[in-house]
Amino acid sequence: MTSQDSNLSRPYPPAEFVEEFAPYIKLIPATDIHEWVTGQILDGNGSLHNPDHSHLIDADIAFMWAASAFSKKGRTVLGQAEEVMMRAGGWQKARMEQQLYEWFGQIPDYIITLAADFCSQCSDMEFCALVEHELYHIAQDTDEFGAPKFTRDGQPKLCMRGHDVEEFVGVVRRYGASADVQEIIDAASQPAEVAKINIARACGTCLMKLA
Ligand SMILES: [Zn+2]
Repeated sequence: MTSQDSNLSRPYPPAEFVEEFAPYIKLIPATDIHEWVTGQILDGNGSLHNPDHSHLIDADIAFMWAASAFSKKGRTVLGQAEEVMMRAGGWQKARMEQQLYEWFGQIPDYIITLAADFCSQCSDMEFCALVEHELYHIAQDTDEFGAPKFTRDGQPKLCMRGHDVEEFVGVVRRYGASADVQEIIDAASQPAEVAKINIARACGTCLMKLA
């Protein structure tokens, strides 16, 4: 799909989904995120096209809204990318499989979940950055020489990848930047590659606001 007109608005979770109370964090499939990501980020003609994700163009990634963020290790989690793995057997596994079939009609290879409460009110730039953050977690596997791996039918072999940098501000303040941190500093000292006008094109924000 190359038409940009069909995806002129960024995906939003249904308002009642965010507002209605449940005694657990509700989840719903969000196929419109997949359409938007494919059209705007993965497709070569997309307004936010990023060749870093080119291995994902035919990847089996399902998207979901979670009604709210959650806290883990003192941090608020707004998005999560995961490889679908059945860590259970018997009826426990059957229950998970049934749930995935009911949501997606199949068992996807990867699931990206986004916090609907955050995404319903964050800026377009925050939304795009969050989506790309989760996409960056799904990498193409490489062999011992760093060459990209492919499956038997010629598709990129995918794997989960951790963050480029895991460090404390205090350590950098006291001991300076490691090579990994320096890469982030170098990237941050360049102007952002993604222009606001392209975010507006992908998200349907009124272009007048950019004047
Ligand atoms: Zn992450």
